[in-house]
Amino acid sequence: MKRKYLSAALLAAALCLSALTACADNQPYTKSAFTFDTFITLTIYESESADSPEEICEGAVDMLTSLDEELSRTNPDSVIYALNKEGYNAPVEVSNTTYQLIKSCKDLSELTDGAFDFTLGEISSLWGFGKDNGKKPDDTALAELAGRKNYDNLTFDDESRTIGFTEEGFSVDLGAAAKGYALDMLDSYLRKAGVTSAVVDFGGSILTIGKKGEYSWNISVTADESDSPVGTLAVNDGFIATSNGAKRFVEYDGVKYHHIIDPFTAYPADSGIKSCTVYAANGLISDALSTAFFVMGQEKAEQFYEKYKIAEYIITLDDGTVKTSDGIAADFRATKNG
Ligand code: AMP
Ligand code: MG
Repeated sequence: MKRKYLSAALLAAALCLSALTACADNQPYTKSAFTFDTFITLTIYESESADSPEEICEGAVDMLTSLDEELSRTNPDSVIYALNKEGYNAPVEVSNTTYQLIKSCKDLSELTDGAFDFTLGEISSLWGFGKDNGKKPDDTALAELAGRKNYDNLTFDDESRTIGFTEEGFSVDLGAAAKGYALDMLDSYLRKAGVTSAVVDFGGSILTIGKKGEYSWNISVTADESDSPVGTLAVNDGFIATSNGAKRFVEYDGVKYHHIIDPFTAYPADSGIKSCTVYAANGLISDALSTAFFVMGQEKAEQFYEKYKIAEYIITLDDGTVKTSDGIAADFRATKNG
């Protein structure tokens, strides 16, 4: 099958150039914005809506901006901030969106046996990813927070839509799941608006709607910050998330510590996986599982895959070997080296 290649980096560059103008008929329309602390680029190829692609994209970015305000744990006006601050004293009422998200996150934490643990906020705060804390966290403090599976200490009340904490000393960090969930919201938003063909690059997480004309989307899969992908994945309709240590880290005494934590050690995961990309029919699942597989390591990720079959993976090991799950092998074309 003839394939057209789409590199996330090239896409972003090309899209930035055209971001200010609505394109002529039959040309894709692109909008770039900054939300969830990252760049997003939406490209609409086909739409059956009476609204212009420009209007649809504007509405989409507004929707994402409000969601970001709601889910950020650093924004003092956000519901997650309130939950982290007050959840132990009294259950906190949250929006339906947040309620469903936190419940799904708890399910995914249980399903992955805590490899994805969205209640490790105290650990990520100690490490200080994204800011300079100046000092490596104390081993004893980390040991106290390790392996606590705090998601077991959440209470839910469906009627009052409140969430509470039964223990003190933990907080919610949606960093491994919020972008995926936002892409789920975006997918519904765009489809409801009449969009039938689109691709979104959300800081490296990808949403595809429909096909690119008669072709599948060919998405570059990268394992680090270099421009050379490990391969391309041909997909229609779906979500792709990638977790690796290259994107975010802190440096203490000349040593780099990346941002994906093994909740059982409270240290950056060191499972033998350099990068993990997950493709799923759901954005939250693709995001949470890319993080979870990175923590689990290839063997456990494969067992999880065989057991649940809810997502496909492309795993690059520390030695550069690339492993793909069975369901995606035929759609993945590895980059030829040399
Ligand atoms: P991602 O890039 O999707 O793998 O998410 C990583 C971000 O999620 C980090 O920056 C932390 O805020 C948070 N995080 C780190 N480790 C985990 C984990 N094991 N489970 C859930 N969230 C995590
Ligand atoms: Mg993730």
